[in-house]
Amino acid sequence: MAEGCVIGVDLGGTKLLAGAVDQDGTVHHRTNRPALGLDQLELVEMVAHAVEGVRRSVGVEVEAVGFGIPCTFDARTGLAVQAVNLPLRDIRFADVMAERLELPVVVDNDANCAVLAEARAGAGAGCSEVVMLTLGTGIGSGMVLRGEVYRGFAGGGAEIGHMVVDMDGRPCQGNCPNTGCLESVASGTALVREVSLAVARRPDTNIGRAMEAGRELTGPMVTEMARAGDPVARAAIETIGRALGVGLANVVNIFCPQVVVIGGGVSAAGDLLLAPAREVMARRALAPGRDEVRIEAAAFGAEAGMLGAAMLARERPSDVPSAAGPAAAGTA
Ligand SMILES: [Zn+2]
Repeated sequence: MAEGCVIGVDLGGTKLLAGAVDQDGTVHHRTNRPALGLDQLELVEMVAHAVEGVRRSVGVEVEAVGFGIPCTFDARTGLAVQAVNLPLRDIRFADVMAERLELPVVVDNDANCAVLAEARAGAGAGCSEVVMLTLGTGIGSGMVLRGEVYRGFAGGGAEIGHMVVDMDGRPCQGNCPNTGCLESVASGTALVREVSLAVARRPDTNIGRAMEAGRELTGPMVTEMARAGDPVARAAIETIGRALGVGLANVVNIFCPQVVVIGGGVSAAGDLLLAPAREVMARRALAPGRDEVRIEAAAFGAEAGMLGAAMLARERPSDVPSAAGPAAAGTA
């Protein structure tokens, strides 16, 4: 690989994806690791090992590492303050990783990384106003407004997944204290719950038989069954899509973006998810936003967060937590 390589890391609620990215944006030496069931210390160890593995494979000097992690940040202190779906709290993630890896490190919210990649070179290329929702374990979100990633005061902004769409709705998941959040009705977790309820009512389709035979019910499995025509899986994805559409109507009314990019594992369902979402959004949102906005699947699919983290590593902007690396690490 040529010089000028950075490593991008996308840490999700259930897994980590990392890769070395060269100056052309080509990804080399991808690695996947599970992130479930670890405490904070174990999680930090796992992440550091994954990065070191990629670094060894690269064979040339790595300039910096960018991390996208599903946390709110306080940019004034560099603290990763709160994660809904991972055991991270009040940790100076950039400092910890820079000391451990002896490399310059920059950290941002995972969905901020994803929207950066999609707005620069993906489904939102050429647009100044781009909102992205990543539907996975939870719902991450990022916004590019007037061409810049919007992080809110002190860096805690753009948590559209925790926008309330049902005031008296079910409790949200993980560490979120709210009820009726978009995340509680339109995430991968909500999809799995929806299917599990539907299969109990109607066990006589392929998905019910697969579960009966011991196959684990997961988001990818639901998508696969839906694509193959299973009516229970299709109906569940449509339900999630309609709930997503309510969230999109709010997004379109508030921000009037040119494009809303839908990423994360659930977006693999494609138009089975997006068609009902578009239909509900168009019925509920106000003109002109509803008539102009495009609702698109992420061009980079599951790699958007990793690619955006790599872009961040290359640019090292001043408004996100970062740590210098070797010099600072000398005191570790
Ligand atoms: Zn919530």
